[in-house]
Amino acid sequence: MLKAVIDYQACGSLACTKCKARSGCETRALIKVDPDEPAAVDPALCMGCGDCVLICPIGAINIIDT
Ligand code: SF4
Ligand code: SF4
Repeated sequence: MLKAVIDYQACGSLACTKCKARSGCETRALIKVDPDEPAAVDPALCMGCGDCVLICPIGAINIIDT
């Protein structure tokens, strides 16, 4: 099953205030609670579509086969 995973080091280094890729996620599986912390993926909501991969400006999201 395909799922998005965040590269926490890369994501944290950019420190988007809000996750830009979340706006392109149909199920809102990307979550960023604290602006100073990396985003996270809710695996229960992620469909593995890959749309977020194209939106994240630094390529901090990858799709893996779990
Ligand atoms: S858009 Fe990318 S770098 Fe920015 S918070 Fe989301 S996953 Fe992290
Ligand atoms: S792979 Fe699709 S469903 Fe999963 S977080 Fe990215 S945009 Fe959302």
